[in-house]
Amino acid sequence: VTITIRTMFGLGDSFWSRPHVKALSRLPDVRMVTTWPQCFAGIDVKLLGGGTILRSARMNVARLRMKPTARWDLKLAYQREHIEAGAVHHDSLTASIRHLLRGAVPDPADIRMSVPAEWLKPADVMLRKWENHFGKPVALVRPPTLRDERVHTARNCDPIAFQQLLDHMRRDYTLVAVADLAPQREWLLTPPPHGIHVECYRGELTIETIIALMSRCITVGCIGFQLPAALAIGGPAFFLFGGHYAFDGPDVLLPPIYDASNIGYVEPDAPCRRCADPHHSCSKTISRHRLIAAFDAWRARTEARCGL
Ligand SMILES: [Zn+2]
Repeated sequence: VTITIRTMFGLGDSFWSRPHVKALSRLPDVRMVTTWPQCFAGIDVKLLGGGTILRSARMNVARLRMKPTARWDLKLAYQREHIEAGAVHHDSLTASIRHLLRGAVPDPADIRMSVPAEWLKPADVMLRKWENHFGKPVALVRPPTLRDERVHTARNCDPIAFQQLLDHMRRDYTLVAVADLAPQREWLLTPPPHGIHVECYRGELTIETIIALMSRCITVGCIGFQLPAALAIGGPAFFLFGGHYAFDGPDVLLPPIYDASNIGYVEPDAPCRRCADPHHSCSKTISRHRLIAAFDAWRARTEARCGL
């Protein structure tokens, strides 16, 4: 009997689900419904397209010419009450499919993926072009944005701290900012970042290219899909935490079950711990000296390790 399992349709959630999809792929006759097949690259499992109102996810399914499936037998998804009780995402996802796994346990290390060679080729062409033009290594920048479909103000970092970091980096890096903005649908927090060398704000870069770039250069961002993406590909990345710590704090997103040796981060001066309200006005201020010290320490560590 074929079992059809619906994954979560968010991009970050899809990366978090990699170990579980890998574990499920070992069962006979399992099919997964997804809007981000790219997150499951290298896993031998039948993938079906998901039908969704989420804009980027829907466009991705259309670009890949997958036919949206409306039926599934069960869902691989977080159990909100688990996470509010302190479970990490990995364990909460495991709990949602435990009865299927017959004692097998998803291995957090399976979040790791290798970037397909065909994704690296266009990314390397862009990198060479930008670095030749500006004469400095590229840093991929993911500024905080908001989306109408899920206005989630709380997890975003303080845009003022984000700007201070960009000002600090600008002399040494070619700053390439990435977003998929659309009027009334997705927009930058104010003030929008300035001093960016290359703005790719209209979805110019495919997700394949973004993932490939993240494996070739450093990424700086707020909390979003880049964090599990960096865990998946082992790319060097530095994050500014915001609020909403019950779901989006470092204890939840970076538990020691993952190899996060390439990831650095800084927390707000007074994090809004145990906060589970996506609309709360959490305290997010990051003192400049803490921010710069955290970034510089991570940069020195990463340059020594990765030769960047
Ligand atoms: Zn809060």
